[in-house]
Amino acid sequence: MNTGLLDFRTDRDASLKLIDWFDIERVRAARILVIGAGAIGNEVLKNLALLGIGHVFIYDKDTIDMSNLSRSVLFRATDAGALKAAVAARAIRDLNPNVEALWESGDVTLDLGLGVYRTMDVIIGCLDNREARLHVNRACWKLDRPWVDGGIGQLNGQARAYRPGHGACYECSMTENDYRRISVPCGAIASRYASEGKVPTTPTIASIVAAVQVQEALKLLSPDVWEGRMLDGREFVFNGTVGAASFVEMPVREDCPAHDLLPPESIVELAGATASRTTGADIVGAAREALGPDAIVDLNFELAVERRCPGCASVHHLLRPLRKVFREDLECEECGRVGYVLSTHTLGGPADEYEEDFLARPLSELGVPRLDILTARGRGGLEVSFELSGDAGATLGWHAGEDSSVDEEAANART
Ligand SMILES: [Zn+2]
Ligand SMILES: [Zn+2]
Repeated sequence: MNTGLLDFRTDRDASLKLIDWFDIERVRAARILVIGAGAIGNEVLKNLALLGIGHVFIYDKDTIDMSNLSRSVLFRATDAGALKAAVAARAIRDLNPNVEALWESGDVTLDLGLGVYRTMDVIIGCLDNREARLHVNRACWKLDRPWVDGGIGQLNGQARAYRPGHGACYECSMTENDYRRISVPCGAIASRYASEGKVPTTPTIASIVAAVQVQEALKLLSPDVWEGRMLDGREFVFNGTVGAASFVEMPVREDCPAHDLLPPESIVELAGATASRTTGADIVGAAREALGPDAIVDLNFELAVERRCPGCASVHHLLRPLRKVFREDLECEECGRVGYVLSTHTLGGPADEYEEDFLARPLSELGVPRLDILTARGRGGLEVSFELSGDAGATLGWHAGEDSSVDEEAANART
């Protein structure tokens, strides 16, 4: 780079171009998925925009409350009630028009298709709960993508980088107790009105942790250059109470379930398949063509098919992930008794007991997200993964300077 040719009055990146390790071409081509647009997410996104990261995809499920404004540099009082992801995308495009910002709103554990992860260079987690972190970790391990996690309190915080094949993953550190706290015990379906705990945080610690996360994400864009000097497998711990930072090696757990999630040997991109048009029967047909007549397709969640009433024997179709069925949905409209749920994890498996012909329905009506990747299993351990690649344009249509290709109405309809 000939610094003599830099125009500091007109080139917004002139200063960055002076940094010898800053690979501006790599940064402009980068695709980063940011999950969570809360306190940490705001700071992460601000940094990504200032650095001129080319493509940023923002995923979040919440709307903006006035109480978010004390920790969210991208939000204004006039944004109250709007979707965090949408407002954050608009705000970072405003900060740096060279950044393409796409967004979607939904629950990361159910509504974000695995195909989105597959196109990303790095995933940055700005999450506030173990369940979402565990989900993101498994998705990243399965698709061989690095991710950077952050967690904050009021004065203290941590950042960790995870890179498949290079040290510990998030799940390595999970204890029996952690699993227990995440899993919903069999038969115990949560109430729709269960309250979520609120952890008080500050913008200062969010800013410190987010800055470390973004620096590590930058390094992960050029792992060959930074090999041995990255945070992968280690934890950055900032103790704001005494103003000290330290690094902790994260131990690898030998029997960690995430490590068995090898990247699919082959991902078949079904160019014509979309969640809203392709049916369960279509995808089972593709699986059987590839793997033989016994092949079945794994869903990435437990599908609640129907509710049966033990009193009047009426059947009520549920057709959504079991995690979106609440205690209030179990009561029979006819006789008021509490029904039981029939559910499945596969398409094309034994479905004799179901009254509903759910295979005839489009995948989206079963709760399969756009651009998802579904794995089919046949005899002898043969596996093929299918991507609903027909959704790629609508989900990830990166277009310079244009508004998000994911329109607000479509995203709202999915929440
Ligand atoms: Zn692990
Ligand atoms: Zn009944």
